[in-house]
Amino acid sequence: MSLGREHERRHLARFPNALDLGGLPIGERVERTREEVAAGERVVYQGALRAETRLADTEVEIVGVPDFLLPARRGYAIRDSKLSRRVKGHPEIELQLALYGWLYERTLGEPPVAVQVHTGAGTVDDVPYEGAEEALEALEAILRIRLDSDPPHEVVGWSKCSSCGYFERCWPEAVKQRSIGLLPWVDRGLIGELDSRGVNTIDELLRRYDAESLAKIERPWGSRRQQVGPKADRILASARALAEERPIVLRPPVIPEHPNYVMFDLEGLPPPLDELEKIYLWGLQVFGERPGESRAAVAGFGQTGDREGWEAFLQEAEAIFAEHGDIPFVHWATYERTKIDLYLSRYGDRDSIAARVKRNLLDLLPIAYESVALPTSSYSLKQVEKLAGFERQLTDAGGEWSMARYIEATETPDERLRTAIMDEILGYNREDLEATWGVLSWLRQDNKTDG
Ligand code: SF4
Repeated sequence: MSLGREHERRHLARFPNALDLGGLPIGERVERTREEVAAGERVVYQGALRAETRLADTEVEIVGVPDFLLPARRGYAIRDSKLSRRVKGHPEIELQLALYGWLYERTLGEPPVAVQVHTGAGTVDDVPYEGAEEALEALEAILRIRLDSDPPHEVVGWSKCSSCGYFERCWPEAVKQRSIGLLPWVDRGLIGELDSRGVNTIDELLRRYDAESLAKIERPWGSRRQQVGPKADRILASARALAEERPIVLRPPVIPEHPNYVMFDLEGLPPPLDELEKIYLWGLQVFGERPGESRAAVAGFGQTGDREGWEAFLQEAEAIFAEHGDIPFVHWATYERTKIDLYLSRYGDRDSIAARVKRNLLDLLPIAYESVALPTSSYSLKQVEKLAGFERQLTDAGGEWSMARYIEATETPDERLRTAIMDEILGYNREDLEATWGVLSWLRQDNKTDG
């Protein structure tokens, strides 16, 4: 949110004579906006537009607060500041802007001259305005849900719920009911199929199905239907772990013996936040008999910064190989492997170091999944590390926090602040490396016999 506000403030600075209506109560704001737009002279910041209509058999009032109303030769343009670097792929932005266009048209009797987005990339992109039918339909659907006394039936699932704004509302209730949606790594098709058969809880699943009968269930799979098959056994193990609230060891973890391991964790920006999908921190640290300090390779802030980060990573990896030979590079999930491939195609290898890193990669997530059924709905590092007894000091930090802080670092002209932010991000990455080592040690020591 603070990044969004900062982005908007910078755009506002381009209009020194803008009239800021942000502090007024909404009714007054609507009136002032109408007067200013009718006068046609000033940029209006945080103006308000209001119209009444009928949705879901109910009289409703719709209020929109576009960031900017900009005078043109005839009429006004509507412009909203967004952190998204592009409008494509963000239907919610198009719907919001269409609604602003409609509110403007209802208020002033004619459509705006343009509807625009000031993007996170700093560009001003036009959004074609062709009325707000779709936006009003979306509002109507939301209103119907809100007017309904019963909440809509929706089975939870970690991947869709963990970052949803309603998590705190839906998840504790699902835990209380021991919902079938708590099962980790089970496809939505199967969850839906079980739900439609009246299997809504984990206890019900364990009562009604064994591995053989669950394996025969057909659920939607792409455009076809497919049996659950051999996965059934593993799904029931997860159900038992959740029901009994304890880890259940399935088999000894397959971890190659080595005196030392290097923990490997990347911090990166996905394409929607950066035109170039970018790794800004390549985190490495050796643990084991001869532990070392964390050795991070950080991307530079200039034009060639991305390549510099990659080169520095290859240098660190080379030094680690020189000291430890073919040491396993332990990471959590597939991100690290796919990003090495991305950078190999982007900048190539040097002395086959990246190829050697790839040969030595050891993904701990599938090892953990195959060896222990955990009483958790997610096999994210942050969930599994808790079971391994690892406690973080930086409790507010996380992947999204790290990205937001990194963007702040790239945008601040203050060198000292930038260094301080990068130190914080490095601290967070170090905790990820320590947590990965904590989980590796836990898997090796505590999960060798059936619990
Ligand atoms: S948390 Fe969000 S995604 Fe999950 S069930 Fe609730 S509303 Fe749907």
